[in-house]
This record gives sequence, C-alpha cells and structure tokens, in this order.
Amino acid sequence: MIFILTGAGISQESGIPTFRDAGGLWEGENVEDVATPRGFARNPDRVLDFYNARRRNLLDPAVAPNAAHQALARLEAAVAARGGEVLLVTQNVDNLHERAGSKNLLHMHGEMLKARCQLCGEVMRWEGDLTRQSVCPSCAGPGRLRPHIVWFEEMPLYMPEIEQALNRCRLFVSVGTSGNVYPAAGFVSLARRAGADTLELNLERSLGASRFRDGRYGKASAIVPAWVDEVLGGQ
Ligand code: NAD
Repeated sequence: MIFILTGAGISQESGIPTFRDAGGLWEGENVEDVATPRGFARNPDRVLDFYNARRRNLLDPAVAPNAAHQALARLEAAVAARGGEVLLVTQNVDNLHERAGSKNLLHMHGEMLKARCQLCGEVMRWEGDLTRQSVCPSCAGPGRLRPHIVWFEEMPLYMPEIEQALNRCRLFVSVGTSGNVYPAAGFVSLARRAGADTLELNLERSLGASRFRDGRYGKASAIVPAWVDEVLGGQ
C-alpha cells in the first residue's frame, strides 16, 4: 500500500495560497484569531468571514486541479487496477483531489465546502457564506453552524484509520507540506518505524526533510507527475 500525505503546496499552483510561504494565506492574520476554538468563541463573525472568503476563492471558476492532483488520481486508479492500494490523506481543506478523481481520500483537517452543527453534530455540504443567522437544515437550530475545519487544538479526523494505514504501508510519500503541523508532521517517523520507504516531494527541503530516505524538489505540477510516471513505468 502506498500512503500519500498532501499539504497546501500541492494546491498552490491552482491558485490557493499556502499557509506560511511569503504571500501565504495567513499573512496579516493571527492564527490564534481565525483558527482556534477560542478565536471563534471570542469573535465568531471574524472567523466566519475569514472562511467565507476562503470558500469563495475555492469556488472561483479559475481554481482547478493541477497536474499534481491529476497524477495522484491516475496513480490510484492504475495501482487499484493491479490489485494494489493508494491511500491519499490530505491536510488540505479544498476539494481539488476529489475533483481530479481521487477516491480513496481522507480529509484529516476537514473540508471547506462543509459546515458542522454544534448542536446536533450533523455535517453538511455548504457552498454559500456562513453567518451567525445560518440555520441547521437538520435540527433547525439557528446560530450554531461552524466551518467543518479542524482548528489548532482540535483533534484531526480519521486518526484510527490513518494510524492503521501507516502501520501497513510499504511506501510513504509526503507532497507539498512544511512539516510544521502535528500530528501530520510525525507520520513519516511512524511509517518508517513500521518499515516503509519514505519520500518527500516539495518545493524545497522541509523542516522534517532529514526524516525521509529520499527527496525530490521542485514545483508539484512537475515533480509529482514525473514521480508517478516512474512508479507506473517501473511496475
Ligand atoms: P504550509 O503552508 O505550512 O507548507 C506548504 C509547503 O508547500 C511548504 O513546505 C512549501 O515549500 C511547499 N510548496 C509551496 N509551493 C509549492 C509548489 N508549487 N509545489 C510543491 N511544494 C510547494 O502547508 P501545510 O504543511 O499543508 O500546513 C498548512 C495547514 O493549513 C494545513 O493544516 C492545511 O489544512 C491548512 N491549509 C490548507 C490549504 C488548502 O486546503 N489548500 C491552504 C492553506 C492552508
């Protein structure tokens, strides 16, 4: 099984700013204010507005999957046709992997195009703006919807499935992630301990680059398709 972890870098060329790079999404915004439960409790309008802007950006017709997203979908289909498995775990909250055709996909940090009701727990597709007046279509409770996003200090989703997959993968590949955000940054060490080979694909060496056996550096739209061609050609 091939385990692929992706981060904001894979979507950068699709027009979605990354987290910490110059010109990135969080420049000028304090993470504490817009990406923690405390920030939301303190100023819900500011947090809802921040995500409303990100959601509108994602729905811009110019934003589309790039060659890296497409290559990972192609890899999954080709490996599955040969009886193998590719699991894609993304830290991204955009929907570009599914739009490219990836199916075996876990969004560990939630999804921008979903909302969650804090009263009844229902998770629903949500493409418009979220406001404090938005009403939950499931329980009809007003004012308790929040973005379905895992904030700092919250538990990522699907952790049991992810840990199980890290234990059985033979190859762990990280694409476009800075190795700053835990627990995802620790996955490479868990996979390695379980015996997997490890590869980093990133614009430049990340903070955790030394934990990988191998690394290829450059834009995701170039290095990811090249690596996929190599894997499929060599099998
Ligand atoms: P990060 O911003 O911390 O790091 C991005 C990494 O991508 C960097 O190492 C950078 O060198 C690399 N990169 C930038 N452009 C690239 C390119 N064209 N090709 C290849 N690599 C490139 O992102 P992270 O590690 O994913 O952590 C950020 C957190 O913020 C995540 O939890 C994620 O949920 C969230 N986030 C998501 C999105 C999204 O959904 N697209 C965007 C921004 C932030």
